[in-house]
Amino acid sequence: MGKDYYNVLGVDRNASADEIKKAYRKLAMKYHPDRNKGDKGTEAKFKEAAEAYEVLSDADKKARYDRYGEEGLKGAFSGRGGGFAWEDFTHANDFEDIFNNIFSNSIFGDFFGTQSGRNRRKPSAQRGSDLRVNLKLTLEEISTGVDKTLKIKKYKKCKTCGGTGAKPGTGQRTCPQCNGTGEIHSQSRSFFGAFISVQPCSACNGEGTIVSDPCIACTGTGRARDTETITINVPAGVTTGNYIPLKGQGDVGPKNGPAGDVVVFIEELEHELFEREGDNVIYDLPISFIQAALGDTIEVPTLNGRARLKIPAGSQSGKIFRMRGKGIQHLQRHGAGDQLVRVWVWTPKNLSRDERKALEQLSDSPNLKPPKGGKSFLKDSDVF
Ligand SMILES: [Zn+2]
Ligand SMILES: [Zn+2]
Repeated sequence: MGKDYYNVLGVDRNASADEIKKAYRKLAMKYHPDRNKGDKGTEAKFKEAAEAYEVLSDADKKARYDRYGEEGLKGAFSGRGGGFAWEDFTHANDFEDIFNNIFSNSIFGDFFGTQSGRNRRKPSAQRGSDLRVNLKLTLEEISTGVDKTLKIKKYKKCKTCGGTGAKPGTGQRTCPQCNGTGEIHSQSRSFFGAFISVQPCSACNGEGTIVSDPCIACTGTGRARDTETITINVPAGVTTGNYIPLKGQGDVGPKNGPAGDVVVFIEELEHELFEREGDNVIYDLPISFIQAALGDTIEVPTLNGRARLKIPAGSQSGKIFRMRGKGIQHLQRHGAGDQLVRVWVWTPKNLSRDERKALEQLSDSPNLKPPKGGKSFLKDSDVF
């Protein structure tokens, strides 16, 4: 399971939120770097406790940790190549959690980077934004899978300066505001007392250098708005809330910063004829009393063209016929769902005199007398 966060805080797995908090405070006081100046060992312990607390004090993270261990806290994107991965097919809510998890700045990270100045971060380029795309799909498209071409408006690398932000032929110079460190130090107070906080320098975005002569085409940002066409292969069987991450296809960061991701969210359009139930589709078919009594072969629509359905003589209203494999192909599995056709006997409302006469002639016929009512008068063979 990796790290045992309960062990780190010295509480048992059933500890209440209050117990967890108390245990953490005790450790935080004990190992706080202000009290243990320069002792790497205690700093590591403090960090470990902070990490454990960050997880165990958050109901969501705790639940994931309890279920999946440390793995459960890792983001969906870690270490993946382009395209989408099956493991990434989860629901939007999970996704947003993971998202926040990855991109929110942990207060502990900042706190430490700076506290001693020893762990100074290397100035790093700013990452571009992630872009969300909603993709509407018909049930027909979902049933077989489909290739979709998306037009995405995004920031791409400026062609004039190649993303550096500097006018071609000119260079960079040391940022005067941070003297090239990329950081601005300031003192502030916290729960633990005064400490120095370090923020990335706003003049140079933490890079330590600024361009002396900005590129005219991109005003020195190193990127420009553009449209990109991406074709994605949507597998069969997806549903609303599934998403497809396209790593590195989002906005490129300023000045050659790494690109964010595009996340394609699937939205299933309502179908005018079929209702989806898992990978099955349900179709309601009204039939006449005569078709029910005599039997018939009826052409019905399916997700891929029309198909014939045989209704045997003596079919009752409510009977469901299963058309195997005529539903939606399973996601990640071989095979497909079924089309379920639910018949109901349609009773005419308007009758001509002749029609009425003909029916009246049958009204006393013994074979047309329904059975007694009560509990479930339909036989098993009449109902799917
Ligand atoms: Zn440029
Ligand atoms: Zn600076």
